[in-house]
Amino acid sequence: MDGGGVGPKQYGMPPRFRIEKLSDEFGQYTLVLQCAACRHERTAEPRTLGRLCGWDARLEEVAKRMRCSKCGAKQCRLRALPPQKPRGYSSLPK
Ligand SMILES: [Zn+2]
Repeated sequence: MDGGGVGPKQYGMPPRFRIEKLSDEFGQYTLVLQCAACRHERTAEPRTLGRLCGWDARLEEVAKRMRCSKCGAKQCRLRALPPQKPRGYSSLPK
């Protein structure tokens, strides 16, 4: 970014980012939980929910189990955000 080389452009983010299970993408993402009732939003880490529900749990299954901490409604929606900083992106786990 310091004007060094006109190297390869940063295509950091994969065009398709789709999480179906907690274990997808090695858990390297951020989960956003939104309450459909009061619109309260909070973020969670996949590993937190993975311990709770199991890594094979699908996001929709997890969402059903979550309860809004604000209004108590069980109408959570989960969506996954790709990591903001692709730090150490090249070191793929084996
Ligand atoms: Zn709520």
